[in-house]
Amino acid sequence: MPRKILVTSALPYANGSIHLGHLVEYIQTDIWVRFQKMQGNECHYVCADDTHGTPIMLRAEKEGITPEQLIDRVWHEHKADFDGFHVEFDHYGSTNGTETKGYAQDIYRKLKAAGLIEVRSIEQFYDPVKKMFLPDRFIKGECPKCHAKDQYGDNCEACGTTYAPTELINPYSAVSGAQPERRNSDHYFFKLSDPRCQEFLRKWTRSETLQPEAANKMQEWLGAEDENKLSDWDISRDAPYFGFEIPDAPGKYFYVWLDAPVGYMGSFQQLCNAKGIDFDAYWKQGSDAELYHFIGKDILYFHALFWPAMLQHAGFRTPTKLFAHGFLTVNGEKMSKSRGTFITADSYLKQGLNPEYLRYYYAAKLNGTMEDLDLNLEDFVAKVNSDLIGKYINIASRTAGFITKQFNGKLTEMPESAHSAFGQSVIALSNEETDRADINPQSVSKLDASYDDHLINNPQKLLHEFQLASHDLAPLYESRDFAKASRLIMRLADVANKYVNEEKPWELSKVGNEDKLHFTCSMSVNLVRILTIYLKPALPNLAVQVESFLNTPPLQWSDAFQTLPGGHAINPYQHLMTRVDQKQIDAMIEANKETLVPPPSPVRHGEAQQHLPSPLKGEGANVGAIAPIISIDDFSKVDLRVAKIVNAEHVEGAEKLLKLTLDIGEEKPRTVFAGIKSVYDPEKLKGRMTVMVANLAPRKMKFGLSEGMVLAASGEAPGLFILGPDDGAQPGMRIK
Ligand SMILES: [Zn+2]
Repeated sequence: MPRKILVTSALPYANGSIHLGHLVEYIQTDIWVRFQKMQGNECHYVCADDTHGTPIMLRAEKEGITPEQLIDRVWHEHKADFDGFHVEFDHYGSTNGTETKGYAQDIYRKLKAAGLIEVRSIEQFYDPVKKMFLPDRFIKGECPKCHAKDQYGDNCEACGTTYAPTELINPYSAVSGAQPERRNSDHYFFKLSDPRCQEFLRKWTRSETLQPEAANKMQEWLGAEDENKLSDWDISRDAPYFGFEIPDAPGKYFYVWLDAPVGYMGSFQQLCNAKGIDFDAYWKQGSDAELYHFIGKDILYFHALFWPAMLQHAGFRTPTKLFAHGFLTVNGEKMSKSRGTFITADSYLKQGLNPEYLRYYYAAKLNGTMEDLDLNLEDFVAKVNSDLIGKYINIASRTAGFITKQFNGKLTEMPESAHSAFGQSVIALSNEETDRADINPQSVSKLDASYDDHLINNPQKLLHEFQLASHDLAPLYESRDFAKASRLIMRLADVANKYVNEEKPWELSKVGNEDKLHFTCSMSVNLVRILTIYLKPALPNLAVQVESFLNTPPLQWSDAFQTLPGGHAINPYQHLMTRVDQKQIDAMIEANKETLVPPPSPVRHGEAQQHLPSPLKGEGANVGAIAPIISIDDFSKVDLRVAKIVNAEHVEGAEKLLKLTLDIGEEKPRTVFAGIKSVYDPEKLKGRMTVMVANLAPRKMKFGLSEGMVLAASGEAPGLFILGPDDGAQPGMRIK
């Protein structure tokens, strides 16, 4: 009986590009799904863009488009990246759809009916300029512990302390720069502290649904039996918010993390609608289908606590297992924009790099644990070239030509196959041994070498050894230990190459030993076919090329136990894969160095992008060189405001300074000392509008505290000119 399996990857957020770190998970999931499909299981792989929340709303606003336009554009970008890496979803949806909305509201109503929703008034920071409540990440201020400036509302990047946003010193809104007010608002809570949730989660997290290291983490979060460490989960946000409205709660929206996992259901419902699959067979409580979520370890909390508790108390089934993975490092370090190792999927493909290089490399490193995975770029080049080109491709490239030239493309009969149900591969066992530190590597290699010679002289055994490896590889794929699987496959490829080296078809051809030449080359082609089956989950595109060369229908896992029949005609061999060139890697790193890449411009979609001035353009002209290019994010750090000069006066004892009193719509006007005494009469400045930097760190001067800076133009020619906005601008308006 084929298994019924539903698989998901975490939903990427519609606020940024897919990068190589994200791809660890999508490639891992895709390999696993392809393996299940090759086994003949009924396996569905769904995912979707995660589209809601304040960051999406604000970014769309910044770009001058609607949130719907933003998420539509990003959806297409994400989909193109996944297609580019052969990540084959059965359906790729969006959380901003009626299906997800329906299930989110349905789950909410059921939780409410079960007495698991509670309304509580909470005090939160409110931005009086933007007229919105501020999420923690949109409040900044001074760390209460180490006093580092400009820290986020939830934790300090300088000292690592976590705190409530209300503990920040001199908090300000990262959206408008305004000083936030404290206001009360009703929030909706999912009562995770309810004894029913506690009891359920204690059981669920210990029922082998989690990897051991994840289960331990959960026990920490849950605490001892007599503790109640879980606090209720705030699932609502106030308008304005881009998301789904909570039923019977006007102006209240579901927090994006409530509807994100519900997006798994929504996306699967869309697949069911298109393909006529029975949704309930997969999602109703008591379903016999398997449900697996592949996630990063950073979102374990949401998936191992909130999500199963929501499902359990709303009448749905809970996940069979969660598969968490670690983070990606590049060259042993955190991905970095300045080093150029924050590599986007798109930039990898644009260098003409084969996506299957990366798929293979990740496969060779993924072992099913939560350990971090390192993309060492030097090792990447060496491994891809050595394993894929030097070992796997090499077998066919050295033997297939003889079949085409001397035997009219036809293969000869192979010895009888191994019985599919029994036996174990000796190579697999010895390969296993080399993983154990206590085995003397010399004795193992000796054992291997002598056994290899034995196989090379007994082609039927060689063939059986390749076939029986299927029994060892399937559990490795099933347990997501792709690293061990690829080591075993490469060990087999080594033996196949030894076989070709020993038989020397080029010499057999020279001396006219036709029978042996025909057999050796046919055997080699059959061994390539079996290796292709084993590599197909990781290298689907290459497998399609090999299938075309072998002139066979798409290979399934069980095909390993058959050989191509005598007389079967293959197509002429064409080169299957080129070597990775270090130059392409270097170019990719250069392209990702932030200082060299013009940032994504916030122009409206479809409009021509304006050219940014080149740093060299100013040279030779009568102006100073233009400063190096900055990103829009760099620019938006500078909070420029329209300011009204309510007072201007001389400063006793200061040669160059005027003391300005500036109104930017705040409760208290600001004092700024400006070096403009030589050109401006203070009386004439009074009542004028100008532009100031409102978020410059205050500077203590001899004459008092200066709380900002007024902008003025100057050049080679004499003169100093303060800026002024056009008529109609009001104090406090932001300049962007
Ligand atoms: Zn700190």
